Amino acid sequence: MSIADEIKQNLDIVAVVSASVPLAKAGRNFKARCPFHSERTPSFYVFPDRQTWRCFGACATGGDVFSFTMRQENVAFGEALRLLASRAGVTVPDRYEAPEDDQRLARLRTAHQTAALYYHHRLLHGDDAGEARAYVEKRGIAPEASAAFLLGYSPAQRGALRAHLMAQGYTQEELVEAGLLMESGADAIDRFHNRLMFPIRDSNGAVVGFGARSLDGSNPKYLNSPQSPLFDKSGLLYGLDLARDAIRTQKRAVIVEGYMDALMAHQCGHHNVVASMGTSLTEKQVRALSRLTTSIVLALDADAAGQAATLRSLEVAPEAMGEVATAEPAWQGRVRRKQVGGRQVIYALPRGTARIVAQRKGEIRVLELPRGKDPDELLRSDPAIWEQLVQESLPMMDFLLKSVQQRYDLNTPRGKADAAAEALPLLADLPTVEQAHYLQRLATLVGVEEHLLQQELRQSGKRPQTPRQDEPRPTGLEQHLQKTEVLEDYCLALLLQTESLRPHASGLRPDHFLSTENREIFRAWLEHPDEDPMTLVDDVIQARLLDILALSLPEMLEHMAEAALAQCIHRLEERRLRDLKLHNRARLAAEEQEQGAKEMAALGYLRWQALRNGQPEAPPPETSPEEPPAATEVQEQEIALNQQLQELMAAKRLRPTGSNAVR
Ligand code: ZN
Repeated sequence: MSIADEIKQNLDIVAVVSASVPLAKAGRNFKARCPFHSERTPSFYVFPDRQTWRCFGACATGGDVFSFTMRQENVAFGEALRLLASRAGVTVPDRYEAPEDDQRLARLRTAHQTAALYYHHRLLHGDDAGEARAYVEKRGIAPEASAAFLLGYSPAQRGALRAHLMAQGYTQEELVEAGLLMESGADAIDRFHNRLMFPIRDSNGAVVGFGARSLDGSNPKYLNSPQSPLFDKSGLLYGLDLARDAIRTQKRAVIVEGYMDALMAHQCGHHNVVASMGTSLTEKQVRALSRLTTSIVLALDADAAGQAATLRSLEVAPEAMGEVATAEPAWQGRVRRKQVGGRQVIYALPRGTARIVAQRKGEIRVLELPRGKDPDELLRSDPAIWEQLVQESLPMMDFLLKSVQQRYDLNTPRGKADAAAEALPLLADLPTVEQAHYLQRLATLVGVEEHLLQQELRQSGKRPQTPRQDEPRPTGLEQHLQKTEVLEDYCLALLLQTESLRPHASGLRPDHFLSTENREIFRAWLEHPDEDPMTLVDDVIQARLLDILALSLPEMLEHMAEAALAQCIHRLEERRLRDLKLHNRARLAAEEQEQGAKEMAALGYLRWQALRNGQPEAPPPETSPEEPPAATEVQEQEIALNQQLQELMAAKRLRPTGSNAVR
C-alpha cells in the first residue's frame, strides 16, 4: 500500500473536512456552505461511504481527502500529504520532510560535520591525542584511510566541543538535540570524551552521528550517538558513502560488523565493503543496499553464525530485497528496475512499451569467517584471502542448512526432529522451485522422506501460495480504492507507455481520475508533453508512477492501443457521470428529508397557534393547483445527467460494460 493509501485508510474525510468547515448532517451524508466559493445555501457535500467530497455549485468539482486539503490549504500534493500524514499517524520517510524540518535538520547536519572536522583536527594535531595516534598506528591504519573515514579524537576535557560549536553560533539546545552534547544538571557537556571517533555518514556523505571507541579501557568499549532526528542507526551502513560506486560497478556489496573491519577492507582495496554496526542486519539496511545491487554478501564470524538473532535477521533480508526498485543509468535515457512479485522487471524511459528484459532475484550470500578471526585481523594478515572467501560464500539457504547440520546431532531422532523444526519455517516463503530444491536437501540431511516434510510444511500453515496470516485483510475502503484505481491505472499505463496515443487522449480530463495521485500524474503528462513525468511529480507520487510504468501491457498494434484507450476514456466518463448522479441522488434525498422536516414544523406551529387561540385547527397550507411544482435545481441536474448517460451509451461504438465494469 502506498503512503497515500495508508493515509486515506487512517483518516475519515468527515473528520478532516469538519476540522475547518462546519458540516451539517444530510441523510447519510454531510453538507455545508462551500468553503471554495461564496454561497448562501449549502451545495458542498461530503460522502462518508465513498470518502469523497463534491461542490454542486460554482466549483462543480470534487475529489478525495487530498484534493480537499490541497484546495483548503492552497498547497501542492506533497505538502497536503505531509499535513495529513501527521494527522493519520503515518510516518513519511525522511526525504519527504517538510521544508522547515529540512532547515532544522540541515543545521544539525552541519553541526555534525563541524564536530567531525574538529575531532579529526584534534587527532592529527592535539597535544593530548598522543595515545589515540599510537592506537591508530598500532592497528595499522594508514593516513589515507584515516583521512577518508575522517577518524578523530574527542578530548578528555568535556567542554571542548561545546565551546567550539557554540562559538560558531549553535545553541546548547540544538547540540543536545543533535546528540553531540548531553544534559548534566542545568548545564550540558560533551557526550564523547577521550575516545577514538568514527564519524557515521549517510549514503550522501553527510555526517549524521558518531561511533566512539574507548581508549582507556572505560566502558562501554563502543559508544554511539543516540537516536535523533538525524541518526537512525537501524537504517545506516557505515562506509556506504565511500562504497557506493564500487558496489554499483562490482554489482556486489559485502557487509561486515565493525567500523574497523570496514575501514581496513577499504584500505586493502576492497571498496564494496560496509559495516552494519551491530550483529543483526535490519530490513532498512538491506533496502538501502538493494537500491545499488542485487547481490549482498554477509560476513559472519564463526561464533555469530549460529546465533538465533543472526538467523532471524537473515529471514527478514530476502523480503526486503524482493520489493525494492533500483534505478541505474543506461544507454538510452534511463533504465528503471522494479521487483514485481519476485521477478525483476526492467523498463526503459523515455517512454516506450514496457518490456521484460531480465528475470533475476536479489541474492544474499553468507561468508563464514575462519574461527577466531575478525575481518580486520584477516585482512591485515593476508589480504588475498578476502577475495577467496567472498568467492566461496554460500547462498543463504545453503548456509542455513549447513548451520543446522552442524548444530544438531542428526544421528538421533531428537536431533533430526529439532533440525527439521528449525529449518522448515525458513523454507516456507521460498519460491516454489527453490523450495522444492531445499526440501529435497533437507530430506536427505535428516533422513526423512520428502513428502513427510512437505506435509509438515503445509500443516504449519505457511505455504508460499496462501496469503500470509499476519497480513492485514483489506478493509472495505481499501478494496474500494483498489477497485476504482484499476481502470485509472490501466488508462495511465497506456498513455505513459505509448507516446503515439497522445493525440487520441483529448477527451480525457483531470477530473476523470478520482485518485489525487493519478490526477497529478495525468496533469504532469498533459501539461508537459516533452518532459519525463518522473521529474515533475512529487517524491511520494513517484512510487505510484513506478507502479504504473511497471504494469505490463500486452503487445499491441497501434490501432489496438487506440481502441483500448478509447474504451478506457469511455468507461471513465461513464463512471464520472454515474458518480455525479449518485452524489446528486444523495443530495436530493437529503433535501427532501429537510423539506419534510420544515413542513412538519410549520404544521406543528399552526396547530399550537390554533390551540392557543381556542380556534379550530387551520387547514394545511395549500399548494397552488394551477402550477405544477417547479423542478428543483437538483432534479434538473438529474434529468440532464440521465440524458448525458443515455447519449453516451447510444454513441459508443463499443459494447456496453457489463456488471463487472470497474467503477
Ligand atoms: Zn464550491
